[in-house]
Amino acid sequence: MRRGNIVLPVVLFLSLTLIAAYVFYSNRTREYSSDRFLMDTLISIKVYGSDSEALKEAVASAYSEMHRIASLTDAFPKIGTPEYRESDACRINQQAGVAPVVVDKDTFKILKMAKHYSELSEGAFDVTVGPLMDLWGFGGKNPHIPSPESIKSALSLVNSRDLILNEQERTAFLAKRGMKLDLGAIAKGYATEKAIQSLKASGISKALIDAGGNIRVLGRNLHGTQWRIGIKDPRKQNAVVAILQLEDSSAVTSGDYYRFFEVDGKRYHHIIDPRSGYPAGENMTVTTLTADAALADVLSTLFFVLPPEKAVQMAENLDGVDLFLITDKRRIMHTQSLKGKIDVPSETSYRYDQRR
Ligand code: AMP
Ligand code: MG
Repeated sequence: MRRGNIVLPVVLFLSLTLIAAYVFYSNRTREYSSDRFLMDTLISIKVYGSDSEALKEAVASAYSEMHRIASLTDAFPKIGTPEYRESDACRINQQAGVAPVVVDKDTFKILKMAKHYSELSEGAFDVTVGPLMDLWGFGGKNPHIPSPESIKSALSLVNSRDLILNEQERTAFLAKRGMKLDLGAIAKGYATEKAIQSLKASGISKALIDAGGNIRVLGRNLHGTQWRIGIKDPRKQNAVVAILQLEDSSAVTSGDYYRFFEVDGKRYHHIIDPRSGYPAGENMTVTTLTADAALADVLSTLFFVLPPEKAVQMAENLDGVDLFLITDKRRIMHTQSLKGKIDVPSETSYRYDQRR
């Protein structure tokens, strides 16, 4: 065989290999991940796709959406600052008992949802809990047990029925002076959901947002299977009590171990029962699973305040909602449909009767 006869096929083969390698490389799924501190928590967004620049841009837009929701809902900026003027929550609080305030569309949606779930839970969930939160001081450096008298007077200012919403005018009004919104139980979930919707609009189909342990996933993971999410052990740092599978959905946790102090061996934490004025007492940790992260955030706080049996029963009656919880008696409970989707290690230190 002449030399020329071999050169051509070899060159052809090499070129084809190079082209194949290029096509493979440029279509390869890449991960882009970025962390930011927002809404008092470390937020992490991970996205997957083939175009690095597009991934980066998508995440930047998602963060700006989260930032916008954070600015609207933050009730803590000091009077007179630009942050204060940007916050609908601050303006509503300042005008409590004075006048309705025109708010952003998203703020209105948040308040409408909050009010609805207050009614549904007969006050277990209530974003007008602000005066009680201030008394207990969980937002600041010196949380403490308030006097029973001060709790009693704060209680008279906590009631979502006095949060008046006007759909036509898009206004919100707290009917009594001294009332105060605290959107800490819903804002992060709402912002997370907005970020996911923004990623979707940018063409992303695989993503995971971890907002301080509150998880929202888009699609399946890189291997095409469901994401495996760990539920934190409420009494052991860096340990997991259960693993659950998630796809296109969210898992949001409310726990008594995030912000708390102890007096005489008793734990006082930041989720308050708005009917008593004291920290809700019957659960250590509650994880709600549902598609929408805003709803999951609302429901995890709401279920945390309810007695465990009642919470599970209510979750069973809500479409597309699952619940996992650990009671203060160290008992694991969950909705029926989680059976088979949740993995609790056999050597768990909690009581788990539903395994069978
Ligand atoms: P989460 O971690 O989502 O359960 O939210 C807890 C935060 O929600 C607290 O730090 C308060 O800002 C606020 N909060 C506390 N108790 C309640 C309640 N019963 N209903 C609504 N918001 C609450
Ligand atoms: Mg919540």
